[in-house]
Amino acid sequence: MRPFSFTKAGDKATAIKVISEAEEGKFIAGGTNLLDLMKFHIMHPAHLIDITGVALKNIEALEDGGLRLGALVSNADTAYHAEVEKRYPLLSHAILAGASPQLRNKATDGGNLLQRTRCYYFYDPATPCNKREPGTGCSAINGYNRWHAIFGASEECIATHPSDMCVALAALEAKVQVTGPDGDRIIPFEDFHRLPVNTPEKDSNLYENEMITAIDLPPKGFSENFTYIKNRDRASYSFALVSVAVGLEIKEGEIKEARIVLGGVAHKPWRNKEAEALLENMKATKKNFENVADAIVSEAKAYEYNQFKVELARRSIVRTLMQAAKTEE
Ligand SMILES: Cc1cc2nc3c(=O)[nH]c(=O)nc-3n(C[C@H](O)[C@H](O)[C@H](O)COP(=O)(O)OP(=O)(O)OC[C@H]3O[C@@H](n4cnc5c(N)ncnc54)[C@H](O)[C@@H]3O)c2cc1C
Ligand code: SF4
Repeated sequence: MRPFSFTKAGDKATAIKVISEAEEGKFIAGGTNLLDLMKFHIMHPAHLIDITGVALKNIEALEDGGLRLGALVSNADTAYHAEVEKRYPLLSHAILAGASPQLRNKATDGGNLLQRTRCYYFYDPATPCNKREPGTGCSAINGYNRWHAIFGASEECIATHPSDMCVALAALEAKVQVTGPDGDRIIPFEDFHRLPVNTPEKDSNLYENEMITAIDLPPKGFSENFTYIKNRDRASYSFALVSVAVGLEIKEGEIKEARIVLGGVAHKPWRNKEAEALLENMKATKKNFENVADAIVSEAKAYEYNQFKVELARRSIVRTLMQAAKTEE
């Protein structure tokens, strides 16, 4: 047991002040990831700032027609919120594909974005890991890499981001509202998470001591034509091997806009806009969907134990698109 001190912050300003003054401070929300990481001696903050008392627990309409999810709304309350279910069912489905009911009751939306990889070596302090201890090496590259990335990896880290919720948020082009010692800013979702390159210890582009305050959903929710498919080792309570979030806008049988985002395959939700553009003004047919899937997986690079993910991704993209388009041919 390593000692740590604890502050319960009642508002944003106090939380930012306390974390800025603390040495090795960390916010704690639902604690469903951070406490495990502390118990496994992977992360050892000297000071915890509990933000669950901060007033960020509302879901409210935005003037532009979108919806704001407070960072401290639970994953369960988000997934079952009437407006989310009606206007952003892709997000509801993705959240409900993750974790378990108990975990979703406790886990918060802000915490979900910042959960850390499930790479087995990251969780094992006896093995080298550049993400846990920069400069020590990556045990997964030549190790058991079944869960690992097939897109966007580097020679320093091939971990994947484990979230389901984030795959849907990337497809919806959400925006992340943050606040910190230098004020507020907005981070487009595609810029929120990072690829590992040569700094795998950094998962996101949050600055030091910044706090997520909300996630904004734009007005367009793809509620007519959407699907989230998650392939995993067990039917529940298991992270994605490959997941796919699709939102389509279809008019008179032609696709006007397509969003296709993959989870479980990269250090961040994986989106290929050039491949999406191949579907613009095309008919929603299996052949067209296969062409897009081929374009996406043509950039995949697999390792010894995760080669199955390439074909799994290809087939999952086609199936998700067909389901979203409500077509069988
Ligand atoms: C057994 C198990 C199975 C799971 N399965 C899945 C799954 O299938 N799919 C899935 O998507 N997830 C899954 N999860 C992960 C779960 O969704 C996350 O643990 C959860 O969303 C994290 O939210 P939290 O509020 O508990 O975060 P915490 O554990 O409190 O915090 C996580 C990190 O976020 C930081 N943080 C939290 N809130 C903020 C904020 N507002 N601003 C800045 N920093 C913040 C903390 O400092 C910490 O670094 C699983 C978890 C477990 C334990
Ligand atoms: S893949 Fe990343 S997290 Fe896993 S061992 Fe390598 S450096 Fe560590």
